[in-house]
Amino acid sequence: MISRYYLKCPGCAEVFDARLGVEPTRGTRFYLPCPHCGLSIRGSMSGTELENHRIAIECEVLSDSAPESPDRRVVTINPFVPSRYDADTFTPMGSFPTMTLLQALGDHALAEFQSERHSALEAGRDQWPTVRMLFQYYLQGNTAMFVRIAQQQLGLAWEPSTSHERTTVAYQAMGAVTTVITGTTGTTSANVFGRFSRKHFAAMKRHKDHLATLGVEDSPRRLWNEMSSPSSTVS
Ligand SMILES: [Zn+2]
Repeated sequence: MISRYYLKCPGCAEVFDARLGVEPTRGTRFYLPCPHCGLSIRGSMSGTELENHRIAIECEVLSDSAPESPDRRVVTINPFVPSRYDADTFTPMGSFPTMTLLQALGDHALAEFQSERHSALEAGRDQWPTVRMLFQYYLQGNTAMFVRIAQQQLGLAWEPSTSHERTTVAYQAMGAVTTVITGTTGTTSANVFGRFSRKHFAAMKRHKDHLATLGVEDSPRRLWNEMSSPSSTVS
């Protein structure tokens, strides 16, 4: 969404329009250059819902719903996607952030990108803090807390009592959440998993009991499939 502000530069005292891309955010800082003198003017926005969304710009705001005027200079800023500072409604590429993305990604990829971005933000907010905690306890060797987090917060139905079991649970949880965060349209998650699987299978070759605890002697591929499907471990 684009909001239009009528602003006065605190430096050169000229007035101008700012077209500002607005999105739900817990806190985003930005700056906009005065289109007359280039002075950087700082601003911030926060609020995840429409009712609590706030925008602050560190200069005199003459109006926060300025009607378009062809005589006024315009600056376009979007803290979330690339945009052209000097774009106005009449220079399409870079003037509407969504259009910029659409042109850059193409119709199909844009929808995919937006849905992945949504899932990634959600996973980062809801799942990552728990998985981070789990992995922290794993690294510290705090077995009691590791088991408690795995069972109470990740819904693990059994107790990982050996070090191999805890390693598996820790990496499965990490793998599941990072897959959601990195998404599938790029090559990142394939790289992450490729690297992980090489280490994991090397460990399996060295330690036969590692395979036994996983119950995947017959099919290491099954574990791989389970790990690649986020819903199977973290819900
Ligand atoms: Zn200025």
